[in-house]
Amino acid sequence: MYLGIDLGGTKIAVGIIDENGKIIEHERIPTRRSRLPSAIIEDIITLGNKLVGSQAEGTVYAAGIGVPGIVDASKGVIVNCVNLGWKDISIEAILSNGLDLPVFAGNDATIAGIAEMEAGVLRGIKTGVMLTLGTGIGGAVICEQRIQHGANNIASEIGHMIVGQNFYNCSCGRNGCLETFSSATALVKYTRRLLSGSGISSLPRGNSRNQNGRINGTMIFDAAKAGDPLANKAVDRVVKYLAIGIMNIVTVIDPDLIVLGGGMSEAGDFFLEKIKKEAENVKFFKEIPISEIIYGKFGQDAGLIGAGLYAKQRKR
Ligand SMILES: [Zn+2]
Repeated sequence: MYLGIDLGGTKIAVGIIDENGKIIEHERIPTRRSRLPSAIIEDIITLGNKLVGSQAEGTVYAAGIGVPGIVDASKGVIVNCVNLGWKDISIEAILSNGLDLPVFAGNDATIAGIAEMEAGVLRGIKTGVMLTLGTGIGGAVICEQRIQHGANNIASEIGHMIVGQNFYNCSCGRNGCLETFSSATALVKYTRRLLSGSGISSLPRGNSRNQNGRINGTMIFDAAKAGDPLANKAVDRVVKYLAIGIMNIVTVIDPDLIVLGGGMSEAGDFFLEKIKKEAENVKFFKEIPISEIIYGKFGQDAGLIGAGLYAKQRKR
């Protein structure tokens, strides 16, 4: 068995994962990211040791951790994690010391791709791309059943593909990145902007106590499904740029399969059908089919399962 750790901007999931990617047990704790990295890492170690201790001695062989940023897997170092404000942290060495296990770190979206590749919808697929749609957008590129890291560990950073010009800048400092159009954060930001205008909507508008700060992606999708025009306008903008991003990926590697995961995949067929339709609209060689677009098998658990399976892969 393996210890999987999914380090997110708001939550940390830690779990025991078996050889086949099944979650044996797991717990989630808040990240409280304003704290020092050392305090957050200490929480991970405490919870990890508790879960490892619940298993028969010697049956957990290694740990894997998915990090929402750029990881140099050859050195076991978090190079840059904008979401958490972490830079140059020797995460593998620190965790390995605290957990008394070999530890392997990777980018969280890459690791979600590994879950789908080892035990989900990308199993046996030659070329596939996974997009994790959540607070940000992450990616995993698989060619010939191998995850592509690129020359400088940034091959998976699909969320920072520039697809247009936007009304606010990306956390990376540039303007127009896919995740500023098509992540859950982007959906909420754009909806708030629309709500400050006069468009008709069932969503709460701001008042002196800033009520509209409370809208989230789920609320917007639910309103859109119920026919709310403003919510649909916001969702359609997400879809428009996501389709451009998907077509850019198709233009470069023409994968067999494009897999969508992350929290936004919970919006279901309503969202997926819109994406497929828009991708057809923006494709270039009209007579040539494009990659199939589907949801992943593991939804939000892909990061946790993938972290366990990544440890298994690397331990080999
Ligand atoms: Zn960016």
